[in-house]
Amino acid sequence: MGLLHTATELPKQLFINNEYVDPKHSVKRSLYNPATGELVADDVPVAGEQDVDYAVDCAEKAFPAWKKVSPTQRRDILLKFASLVEEHATELAAMTRLTLGSPVKFNEFEIALAVDAMRYYIGWIDKFNGESFPQDDGFLKIIRNEPLGVTAGIVPWNGPLITLGMKGAPALVTGNCFIFKPSEKTPFAAIALGALAKEAGLPPGVFQVLPGDGTTGALLASHMRVRKISFTGSIATGKKIQELAAKSNLKRVTLELGGKSPSLVFNDCDLDNAVRWTVDGIALNAGQVCMAASKVYVQEGIYQKFVDKYVAYMKEKATTIGDPRDEKTEIGPLVDEGQYNRVRGFIEREKQGKGKLLVGGPREGVRGYYIDPTVFAEPDLDSEIHTQEIFGPVSVIHRFKTEEEALELANNSEFGLMAGVFTQDINKALRVASDIDSGMVGINCVTLNFITAPFGGSKQSGIGRECGISALKAFTELKTVMINLTY
Ligand code: NAD
Repeated sequence: MGLLHTATELPKQLFINNEYVDPKHSVKRSLYNPATGELVADDVPVAGEQDVDYAVDCAEKAFPAWKKVSPTQRRDILLKFASLVEEHATELAAMTRLTLGSPVKFNEFEIALAVDAMRYYIGWIDKFNGESFPQDDGFLKIIRNEPLGVTAGIVPWNGPLITLGMKGAPALVTGNCFIFKPSEKTPFAAIALGALAKEAGLPPGVFQVLPGDGTTGALLASHMRVRKISFTGSIATGKKIQELAAKSNLKRVTLELGGKSPSLVFNDCDLDNAVRWTVDGIALNAGQVCMAASKVYVQEGIYQKFVDKYVAYMKEKATTIGDPRDEKTEIGPLVDEGQYNRVRGFIEREKQGKGKLLVGGPREGVRGYYIDPTVFAEPDLDSEIHTQEIFGPVSVIHRFKTEEEALELANNSEFGLMAGVFTQDINKALRVASDIDSGMVGINCVTLNFITAPFGGSKQSGIGRECGISALKAFTELKTVMINLTY
Protein backbone atom coordinates (compact mmCIF):
# COMPACT_ATOMS: atom_id res chain seq x y z
CA MET A 1 0.00 0.00 0.00
CA GLY A 2 1.09 3.59 -0.52
CA LEU A 3 0.94 6.00 2.36
CA LEU A 4 -2.53 7.43 2.81
CA HIS A 5 -1.08 10.75 1.88
CA THR A 6 1.63 12.05 -0.38
CA ALA A 7 3.81 15.10 0.02
CA THR A 8 1.31 17.07 -2.04
CA GLU A 9 -1.67 15.74 -0.14
CA LEU A 10 -0.27 16.07 3.35
CA PRO A 11 -1.73 14.24 6.36
CA LYS A 12 -3.45 16.82 8.55
CA GLN A 13 -5.41 14.84 11.09
CA LEU A 14 -4.87 13.22 14.45
CA PHE A 15 -4.32 9.46 14.61
CA ILE A 16 -6.36 8.06 17.52
CA ASN A 17 -7.62 4.50 18.08
CA ASN A 18 -6.32 3.44 14.65
CA GLU A 19 -8.34 6.08 12.83
CA TYR A 20 -7.50 9.44 11.32
CA VAL A 21 -9.82 11.96 12.98
CA ASP A 22 -10.27 15.71 12.88
CA PRO A 23 -9.39 17.58 16.05
CA LYS A 24 -12.24 18.75 18.28
CA HIS A 25 -10.20 21.89 18.70
CA SER A 26 -10.53 24.65 16.10
CA VAL A 27 -6.98 26.08 16.29
CA LYS A 28 -4.87 25.46 13.18
CA ARG A 29 -1.29 26.44 12.44
CA SER A 30 0.51 27.49 9.27
CA LEU A 31 3.80 26.06 8.07
CA TYR A 32 6.24 27.40 5.47
CA ASN A 33 8.98 25.81 3.38
CA PRO A 34 12.26 27.19 4.77
CA ALA A 35 14.07 26.71 1.44
CA THR A 36 11.63 28.98 -0.42
CA GLY A 37 9.54 30.78 2.19
CA GLU A 38 6.38 29.44 0.49
CA LEU A 39 3.31 28.41 2.45
CA VAL A 40 3.12 24.62 2.84
CA ALA A 41 -0.17 24.44 4.75
CA ASP A 42 -2.39 26.81 6.72
CA ASP A 43 -4.47 24.10 8.38
CA VAL A 44 -2.08 22.01 10.46
CA PRO A 45 -4.11 20.56 13.34
CA VAL A 46 -3.47 21.19 17.02
CA ALA A 47 -4.78 18.52 19.39
CA GLY A 48 -6.67 20.10 22.30
CA GLU A 49 -7.92 18.89 25.67
CA GLN A 50 -10.77 16.70 24.38
CA ASP A 51 -8.46 15.11 21.82
CA VAL A 52 -5.78 14.37 24.42
CA ASP A 53 -8.40 12.89 26.79
CA TYR A 54 -9.81 10.73 24.01
CA ALA A 55 -6.37 9.43 23.03
CA VAL A 56 -5.49 8.69 26.67
CA ASP A 57 -8.83 6.85 27.13
CA CYS A 58 -8.12 4.73 24.06
CA ALA A 59 -4.57 3.99 25.20
CA GLU A 60 -5.78 3.05 28.67
CA LYS A 61 -8.34 0.66 27.20
CA ALA A 62 -5.75 -0.92 24.93
CA PHE A 63 -3.07 -1.36 27.59
CA PRO A 64 -4.25 -4.49 29.51
CA ALA A 65 -4.47 -6.59 26.33
CA TRP A 66 -1.32 -5.13 24.71
CA LYS A 67 0.88 -5.83 27.70
CA LYS A 68 -0.22 -9.47 27.58
CA VAL A 69 0.48 -9.95 23.87
CA SER A 70 3.14 -12.64 23.68
CA PRO A 71 6.69 -11.47 23.00
CA THR A 72 6.81 -13.30 19.66
CA GLN A 73 3.56 -11.77 18.46
CA ARG A 74 4.63 -8.31 19.62
CA ARG A 75 7.96 -8.84 17.89
CA ASP A 76 6.31 -9.75 14.58
CA ILE A 77 3.97 -6.74 14.64
CA LEU A 78 6.76 -4.32 15.49
CA LEU A 79 9.12 -5.82 12.90
CA LYS A 80 6.43 -5.23 10.30
CA PHE A 81 6.03 -1.64 11.52
CA ALA A 82 9.80 -1.10 11.14
CA SER A 83 9.78 -2.60 7.63
CA LEU A 84 6.88 -0.39 6.58
CA VAL A 85 8.70 2.71 7.82
CA GLU A 86 11.74 1.59 5.81
CA GLU A 87 9.62 0.94 2.71
CA HIS A 88 8.13 4.42 2.90
CA ALA A 89 11.36 6.23 3.78
CA THR A 90 11.33 8.37 0.64
CA GLU A 91 7.81 9.68 1.19
CA LEU A 92 8.39 10.23 4.91
CA ALA A 93 11.64 12.05 4.16
CA ALA A 94 9.88 14.29 1.63
CA MET A 95 7.27 15.24 4.24
CA THR A 96 9.98 16.14 6.73
CA ARG A 97 11.99 18.07 4.17
CA LEU A 98 9.05 20.29 3.25
CA THR A 99 9.07 22.07 6.60
CA LEU A 100 12.49 21.23 8.10
CA GLY A 101 14.46 22.05 4.94
CA SER A 102 16.91 19.28 5.68
CA PRO A 103 18.77 17.71 2.74
CA VAL A 104 17.77 14.37 1.20
CA LYS A 105 20.93 12.76 2.62
CA PHE A 106 20.10 13.83 6.17
CA ASN A 107 16.45 12.75 5.96
CA GLU A 108 17.24 9.33 4.61
CA PHE A 109 20.00 8.87 7.17
CA GLU A 110 17.60 9.89 9.95
CA ILE A 111 14.92 7.41 8.86
CA ALA A 112 17.49 4.63 8.45
CA LEU A 113 18.63 5.34 12.02
CA ALA A 114 15.04 5.25 13.25
CA VAL A 115 14.43 1.87 11.59
CA ASP A 116 17.71 0.54 12.92
CA ALA A 117 16.77 1.67 16.42
CA MET A 118 13.35 -0.01 16.12
CA ARG A 119 14.98 -3.30 15.12
CA TYR A 120 17.57 -3.00 17.87
CA TYR A 121 14.83 -2.66 20.52
CA ILE A 122 12.70 -5.39 18.97
CA GLY A 123 15.71 -7.67 19.47
CA TRP A 124 15.39 -7.10 23.21
CA ILE A 125 11.78 -8.33 23.40
CA ASP A 126 12.65 -11.83 24.59
CA LYS A 127 15.83 -10.80 26.43
CA PHE A 128 14.73 -8.03 28.78
CA ASN A 129 13.49 -10.62 31.21
CA GLY A 130 14.07 -9.37 34.71
CA GLU A 131 15.79 -11.70 37.13
CA SER A 132 15.17 -14.12 39.95
CA PHE A 133 17.31 -15.33 42.78
CA PRO A 134 16.82 -17.78 45.65
CA GLN A 135 18.67 -17.17 48.90
CA ASP A 136 19.10 -19.20 52.03
CA ASP A 137 16.44 -17.08 53.74
CA GLY A 138 13.77 -19.35 52.24
CA PHE A 139 12.33 -16.84 49.79
CA LEU A 140 12.65 -16.76 46.00
CA LYS A 141 12.66 -13.23 44.60
CA ILE A 142 11.47 -12.50 41.10
CA ILE A 143 12.22 -9.02 39.78
CA ARG A 144 9.88 -8.15 36.94
CA ASN A 145 10.12 -5.29 34.41
CA GLU A 146 6.54 -4.04 34.23
CA PRO A 147 5.30 -1.60 31.58
CA LEU A 148 4.05 1.75 32.90
CA GLY A 149 0.79 2.05 30.92
CA VAL A 150 0.03 5.17 28.89
CA THR A 151 3.29 6.86 27.89
CA ALA A 152 4.05 9.79 25.61
CA GLY A 153 6.98 11.12 23.61
CA ILE A 154 7.14 14.90 23.17
CA VAL A 155 9.77 15.69 20.57
CA PRO A 156 11.52 18.55 18.73
CA TRP A 157 11.72 19.29 15.03
CA ASN A 158 15.38 18.71 14.26
CA GLY A 159 15.13 14.93 13.87
CA PRO A 160 11.41 14.25 13.70
CA LEU A 161 11.49 10.46 13.21
CA ILE A 162 14.62 9.28 15.02
CA THR A 163 12.58 9.77 18.19
CA LEU A 164 10.22 7.03 16.99
CA GLY A 165 13.19 4.69 17.30
CA MET A 166 14.58 6.15 20.51
CA LYS A 167 11.29 6.56 22.41
CA GLY A 168 8.43 4.79 20.60
CA ALA A 169 10.28 1.52 20.06
CA PRO A 170 11.41 0.93 23.68
CA ALA A 171 7.94 1.98 24.89
CA LEU A 172 6.10 -0.49 22.65
CA VAL A 173 8.63 -3.29 23.03
CA THR A 174 8.14 -3.25 26.81
CA GLY A 175 4.34 -3.38 26.48
CA ASN A 176 3.37 0.27 26.96
CA CYS A 177 0.93 2.27 24.88
CA PHE A 178 2.63 5.25 23.26
CA ILE A 179 1.32 8.66 22.22
CA PHE A 180 3.65 10.48 19.82
CA LYS A 181 3.53 14.31 20.00
CA PRO A 182 5.65 15.68 17.15
CA SER A 183 6.88 19.25 16.99
CA GLU A 184 4.48 21.79 15.53
CA LYS A 185 7.21 22.53 12.97
CA THR A 186 7.49 18.97 11.57
CA PRO A 187 4.20 17.09 12.07
CA PHE A 188 3.53 15.39 8.74
CA ALA A 189 5.82 12.36 8.74
CA ALA A 190 4.80 11.55 12.31
CA ILE A 191 1.09 11.71 11.39
CA ALA A 192 1.75 9.44 8.41
CA LEU A 193 3.20 6.80 10.75
CA GLY A 194 -0.30 6.10 12.08
CA ALA A 195 -1.33 4.35 8.86
CA LEU A 196 1.82 2.24 8.94
CA ALA A 197 1.30 1.24 12.58
CA LYS A 198 -2.23 0.15 11.76
CA GLU A 199 -1.14 -1.78 8.69
CA ALA A 200 1.53 -3.53 10.76
CA GLY A 201 -1.20 -4.83 13.07
CA LEU A 202 -0.79 -2.64 16.16
CA PRO A 203 -4.13 -2.78 17.98
CA PRO A 204 -6.22 0.42 18.29
CA GLY A 205 -4.94 2.77 21.01
CA VAL A 206 -1.44 1.29 21.23
CA PHE A 207 0.32 3.81 18.95
CA GLN A 208 -1.31 7.20 18.48
CA VAL A 209 -0.17 10.53 17.06
CA LEU A 210 -1.27 13.90 18.42
CA PRO A 211 0.14 16.76 16.37
CA GLY A 212 0.06 20.04 18.21
CA ASP A 213 2.12 22.69 19.90
CA GLY A 214 3.21 23.45 23.47
CA THR A 215 -0.41 23.44 24.66
CA THR A 216 -0.81 19.83 23.49
CA GLY A 217 2.50 18.89 25.12
CA ALA A 218 1.47 20.54 28.38
CA LEU A 219 -1.87 18.67 28.35
CA LEU A 220 0.01 15.38 28.10
CA ALA A 221 2.58 16.37 30.74
CA SER A 222 -0.14 17.33 33.22
CA HIS A 223 -2.51 14.45 32.43
CA MET A 224 -3.38 12.33 35.45
CA ARG A 225 -3.48 9.09 33.46
CA VAL A 226 -0.29 9.51 31.45
CA ARG A 227 2.39 7.64 33.40
CA LYS A 228 5.55 8.67 31.57
CA ILE A 229 6.81 11.50 29.40
CA SER A 230 9.94 10.98 27.37
CA PHE A 231 10.88 14.48 26.27
CA THR A 232 13.49 15.87 23.90
CA GLY A 233 13.73 19.61 23.46
CA SER A 234 14.86 22.81 25.12
CA ILE A 235 15.86 23.21 28.75
CA ALA A 236 13.08 25.75 29.35
CA THR A 237 10.40 23.31 28.16
CA GLY A 238 12.03 20.40 30.00
CA LYS A 239 11.72 22.31 33.26
CA LYS A 240 8.05 23.06 32.60
CA ILE A 241 7.37 19.39 31.87
CA GLN A 242 9.05 18.27 35.06
CA GLU A 243 7.00 20.78 37.00
CA LEU A 244 3.73 19.66 35.36
CA ALA A 245 4.62 16.02 36.01
CA ALA A 246 5.31 16.75 39.67
CA LYS A 247 2.11 18.78 40.10
CA SER A 248 -0.09 16.13 38.46
CA ASN A 249 0.63 12.47 39.13
CA LEU A 250 4.43 12.25 39.58
CA LYS A 251 4.67 10.66 36.16
CA ARG A 252 8.12 9.42 35.19
CA VAL A 253 10.09 11.91 33.11
CA THR A 254 13.12 11.50 30.89
CA LEU A 255 14.60 14.77 29.65
CA GLU A 256 17.01 15.08 26.71
CA LEU A 257 17.79 18.77 26.56
CA GLY A 258 20.20 21.25 25.05
CA GLY A 259 23.96 21.31 24.70
CA LYS A 260 27.01 23.49 24.12
CA SER A 261 29.53 20.79 23.42
CA PRO A 262 33.28 21.41 23.78
CA SER A 263 36.04 19.74 21.77
CA LEU A 264 39.49 19.73 23.39
CA VAL A 265 42.17 19.64 20.70
CA PHE A 266 45.67 18.90 22.00
CA ASN A 267 49.05 19.62 20.35
CA ASP A 268 49.64 15.91 19.75
CA CYS A 269 46.39 15.21 17.87
CA ASP A 270 45.94 14.10 14.28
CA LEU A 271 45.14 17.58 12.99
CA ASP A 272 43.16 16.61 9.90
CA ASN A 273 41.04 14.20 11.89
CA ALA A 274 40.30 16.85 14.55
CA VAL A 275 39.38 19.42 11.90
CA ARG A 276 37.09 17.02 10.08
CA TRP A 277 35.13 15.94 13.17
CA THR A 278 34.79 19.40 14.68
CA VAL A 279 33.61 21.06 11.46
CA ASP A 280 31.30 18.20 10.50
CA GLY A 281 30.00 18.33 14.08
CA ILE A 282 28.82 21.92 13.75
CA ALA A 283 27.70 21.77 10.10
CA LEU A 284 25.47 18.68 10.47
CA ASN A 285 21.80 19.64 9.92
CA ALA A 286 22.96 23.29 9.79
CA GLY A 287 24.02 23.07 13.44
CA GLN A 288 20.47 22.22 14.54
CA VAL A 289 21.70 19.28 16.56
CA CYS A 290 21.68 19.09 20.37
CA MET A 291 25.20 17.67 20.48
CA ALA A 292 26.67 20.05 17.87
CA ALA A 293 30.40 20.68 18.29
CA SER A 294 29.88 24.34 19.07
CA LYS A 295 33.00 25.14 21.17
CA VAL A 296 36.53 24.23 20.14
CA TYR A 297 39.43 24.65 22.57
CA VAL A 298 42.82 24.29 20.87
CA GLN A 299 46.23 23.97 22.53
CA GLU A 300 48.48 26.90 21.70
CA GLY A 301 51.20 24.90 19.91
CA ILE A 302 48.86 24.07 17.01
CA TYR A 303 46.36 26.90 17.37
CA GLN A 304 47.09 28.82 14.18
CA LYS A 305 47.57 25.70 12.05
CA PHE A 306 44.29 24.28 13.34
CA VAL A 307 42.40 27.53 12.77
CA ASP A 308 43.63 27.80 9.17
CA LYS A 309 42.54 24.27 8.35
CA TYR A 310 39.25 24.64 10.25
CA VAL A 311 38.33 27.79 8.33
CA ALA A 312 39.34 26.21 5.00
CA TYR A 313 37.14 23.17 5.68
CA MET A 314 34.24 25.40 6.77
CA LYS A 315 34.52 27.20 3.41
CA GLU A 316 34.48 23.84 1.64
CA LYS A 317 31.37 22.87 3.63
CA ALA A 318 29.68 26.11 2.60
CA THR A 319 29.89 24.94 -1.03
CA THR A 320 27.60 22.02 -0.13
CA ILE A 321 24.79 24.32 1.03
CA GLY A 322 21.81 24.32 -1.26
CA ASP A 323 18.35 23.15 -2.18
CA PRO A 324 17.43 20.33 0.21
CA ARG A 325 15.93 18.34 -2.67
CA ASP A 326 19.27 18.22 -4.48
CA GLU A 327 21.04 14.94 -3.71
CA LYS A 328 24.41 16.71 -3.55
CA THR A 329 23.30 19.16 -0.85
CA GLU A 330 24.76 18.48 2.58
CA ILE A 331 23.47 21.55 4.39
CA GLY A 332 20.02 23.04 3.98
CA PRO A 333 18.43 26.19 5.38
CA LEU A 334 17.51 26.73 9.02
CA VAL A 335 14.08 25.48 9.96
CA ASP A 336 12.17 28.77 9.81
CA GLU A 337 12.35 32.53 9.90
CA GLY A 338 12.28 32.64 13.71
CA GLN A 339 15.28 30.32 14.03
CA TYR A 340 17.10 32.17 11.24
CA ASN A 341 16.60 35.51 12.98
CA ARG A 342 17.67 34.05 16.30
CA VAL A 343 20.94 32.67 14.91
CA ARG A 344 21.54 35.79 12.84
CA GLY A 345 21.06 37.86 16.01
CA PHE A 346 23.85 35.96 17.81
CA ILE A 347 26.17 36.59 14.86
CA GLU A 348 25.35 40.28 14.49
CA ARG A 349 25.71 40.97 18.22
CA GLU A 350 29.07 39.20 18.44
CA LYS A 351 30.34 41.25 15.50
CA GLN A 352 30.22 44.16 17.99
CA GLY A 353 31.91 42.00 20.65
CA LYS A 354 35.44 40.77 21.29
CA GLY A 355 35.28 37.71 19.05
CA LYS A 356 36.78 37.86 15.57
CA LEU A 357 34.56 36.56 12.77
CA LEU A 358 36.82 34.21 10.79
CA VAL A 359 34.34 32.95 8.23
CA GLY A 360 30.62 32.56 7.60
CA GLY A 361 27.44 34.47 8.34
CA PRO A 362 23.95 34.63 6.86
CA ARG A 363 23.69 34.18 3.09
CA GLU A 364 22.56 37.46 1.66
CA GLY A 365 20.34 37.98 -1.38
CA VAL A 366 19.05 34.41 -1.62
CA ARG A 367 15.62 32.94 -1.02
CA GLY A 368 15.37 30.76 2.08
CA TYR A 369 16.91 30.85 5.54
CA TYR A 370 20.53 29.98 4.79
CA ILE A 371 23.50 30.58 7.07
CA ASP A 372 27.05 29.54 6.13
CA PRO A 373 29.16 27.67 8.70
CA THR A 374 30.40 30.47 10.94
CA VAL A 375 33.19 30.67 13.49
CA PHE A 376 34.28 33.39 15.91
CA ALA A 377 37.78 33.30 17.39
CA GLU A 378 38.24 34.09 21.08
CA PRO A 379 35.01 35.84 22.06
CA ASP A 380 34.67 36.83 25.69
CA LEU A 381 34.28 33.75 27.87
CA ASP A 382 31.12 35.25 29.38
CA SER A 383 29.64 36.25 26.03
CA GLU A 384 26.32 34.74 24.96
CA ILE A 385 27.95 33.23 21.87
CA HIS A 386 30.33 31.26 24.11
CA THR A 387 27.85 30.27 26.80
CA GLN A 388 24.44 29.78 25.12
CA GLU A 389 23.12 27.09 22.82
CA ILE A 390 22.70 28.69 19.39
CA PHE A 391 21.24 25.74 17.46
CA GLY A 392 22.72 26.93 14.18
CA PRO A 393 26.02 26.41 12.29
CA VAL A 394 27.98 28.75 14.58
CA SER A 395 31.03 27.78 16.64
CA VAL A 396 33.66 29.50 18.76
CA ILE A 397 37.40 28.76 19.04
CA HIS A 398 39.64 29.49 22.01
CA ARG A 399 43.24 28.62 22.81
CA PHE A 400 44.51 26.94 25.97
CA LYS A 401 47.92 26.17 27.43
CA THR A 402 47.53 23.21 29.79
CA GLU A 403 45.30 20.19 30.25
CA GLU A 404 43.96 21.72 33.49
CA GLU A 405 43.02 24.91 31.68
CA ALA A 406 41.29 22.93 28.92
CA LEU A 407 39.24 21.01 31.48
CA GLU A 408 38.30 24.18 33.30
CA LEU A 409 37.08 25.73 30.05
CA ALA A 410 35.12 22.61 29.15
CA ASN A 411 33.50 22.17 32.55
CA ASN A 412 32.64 25.80 33.17
CA SER A 413 29.17 25.38 31.66
CA GLU A 414 25.63 24.52 32.72
CA PHE A 415 25.48 22.05 29.79
CA GLY A 416 26.97 18.56 29.81
CA LEU A 417 25.75 16.61 26.81
CA MET A 418 28.71 15.78 24.53
CA ALA A 419 32.44 16.47 24.46
CA GLY A 420 35.36 15.55 22.19
CA VAL A 421 38.99 14.93 23.12
CA PHE A 422 41.58 14.95 20.32
CA THR A 423 45.02 13.55 21.19
CA GLN A 424 47.16 10.54 20.28
CA ASP A 425 48.17 9.99 23.90
CA ILE A 426 45.76 7.37 25.20
CA ASN A 427 46.52 8.08 28.84
CA LYS A 428 45.74 11.75 28.42
CA ALA A 429 42.63 10.92 26.41
CA LEU A 430 41.24 8.65 29.11
CA ARG A 431 42.22 11.02 31.92
CA VAL A 432 40.49 13.96 30.26
CA ALA A 433 37.47 11.86 29.29
CA SER A 434 37.02 10.87 32.90
CA ASP A 435 37.35 14.46 34.19
CA ILE A 436 34.97 16.06 31.70
CA ASP A 437 31.51 16.58 33.15
CA SER A 438 29.46 15.32 30.25
CA GLY A 439 27.07 12.48 29.47
CA MET A 440 29.03 11.47 26.38
CA VAL A 441 32.68 11.93 25.41
CA GLY A 442 34.28 11.08 22.08
CA ILE A 443 37.99 10.35 21.85
CA ASN A 444 39.27 11.48 18.46
CA CYS A 445 35.64 12.00 17.45
CA VAL A 446 32.69 14.16 18.50
CA THR A 447 28.98 14.65 17.75
CA LEU A 448 28.03 11.01 17.34
CA ASN A 449 25.98 8.45 19.18
CA PHE A 450 25.00 4.83 18.93
CA ILE A 451 21.62 3.28 19.55
CA THR A 452 23.38 0.58 21.56
CA ALA A 453 24.94 2.91 24.14
CA PRO A 454 23.42 5.35 26.65
CA PHE A 455 22.62 8.80 25.24
CA GLY A 456 21.95 11.83 27.41
CA GLY A 457 23.40 14.65 29.41
CA SER A 458 24.63 15.74 32.81
CA LYS A 459 23.85 19.06 34.54
CA GLN A 460 21.10 20.98 32.70
CA SER A 461 21.48 18.89 29.55
CA GLY A 462 19.01 16.39 30.90
CA ILE A 463 17.81 13.72 33.25
CA GLY A 464 17.98 10.03 32.42
CA ARG A 465 19.33 8.24 29.38
CA GLU A 466 17.97 6.96 26.11
CA CYS A 467 19.42 4.30 23.80
CA GLY A 468 20.82 0.95 24.88
CA ILE A 469 19.14 -0.84 27.75
CA SER A 470 18.65 2.50 29.55
CA ALA A 471 15.56 3.28 27.48
CA LEU A 472 13.95 -0.08 28.30
CA LYS A 473 14.53 0.58 31.98
CA ALA A 474 13.10 4.08 31.60
CA PHE A 475 9.85 2.68 30.17
CA THR A 476 9.39 0.06 32.88
CA GLU A 477 8.88 -0.15 36.62
CA LEU A 478 10.55 -2.83 38.71
CA LYS A 479 8.26 -5.13 40.61
CA THR A 480 9.60 -7.50 43.25
CA VAL A 481 7.64 -10.71 43.71
CA MET A 482 8.63 -12.77 46.80
CA ILE A 483 7.77 -16.45 46.97
CA ASN A 484 7.74 -18.17 50.33
CA LEU A 485 9.57 -21.44 49.67
CA THR A 486 8.90 -22.78 53.15
CA TYR A 487 5.12 -22.54 52.91
P1 NAD B 1 11.07 23.00 22.41
O1 NAD B 1 11.40 22.73 23.82
O2 NAD B 1 10.59 24.35 22.04
O3 NAD B 1 9.92 22.00 21.91
C1 NAD B 1 10.06 20.61 21.99
C2 NAD B 1 8.70 19.97 22.07
O4 NAD B 1 8.05 20.39 23.28
C3 NAD B 1 7.75 20.35 20.94
O5 NAD B 1 7.03 19.22 20.55
C4 NAD B 1 6.84 21.39 21.58
O6 NAD B 1 5.57 21.47 20.99
C5 NAD B 1 6.76 20.88 23.00
N1 NAD B 1 6.43 21.89 24.01
C6 NAD B 1 6.64 23.23 23.96
N2 NAD B 1 6.20 23.82 25.12
C7 NAD B 1 5.71 22.83 25.90
C8 NAD B 1 5.16 22.79 27.21
N3 NAD B 1 4.99 23.89 27.96
N4 NAD B 1 4.79 21.59 27.73
C9 NAD B 1 4.96 20.46 27.01
N5 NAD B 1 5.47 20.44 25.76
C10 NAD B 1 5.85 21.60 25.20
O7 NAD B 1 12.36 22.60 21.56
P2 NAD B 1 12.58 22.71 20.00
O8 NAD B 1 12.77 24.15 19.64
O9 NAD B 1 11.53 21.94 19.28
O10 NAD B 1 13.95 21.93 19.82
C11 NAD B 1 15.19 22.51 20.03
C12 NAD B 1 15.75 22.11 21.37
O11 NAD B 1 15.76 20.70 21.51
C13 NAD B 1 17.20 22.52 21.54
O12 NAD B 1 17.40 23.07 22.81
C14 NAD B 1 17.96 21.22 21.42
O13 NAD B 1 19.20 21.20 22.04
C15 NAD B 1 17.01 20.26 22.01
N6 NAD B 1 17.32 18.89 21.55
C16 NAD B 1 17.87 18.01 22.43
C17 NAD B 1 18.20 16.73 22.02
C18 NAD B 1 18.79 15.74 22.99
O14 NAD B 1 18.64 14.56 22.75
N7 NAD B 1 19.44 16.14 24.05
C19 NAD B 1 17.96 16.34 20.71
C20 NAD B 1 17.40 17.26 19.84
C21 NAD B 1 17.07 18.54 20.27
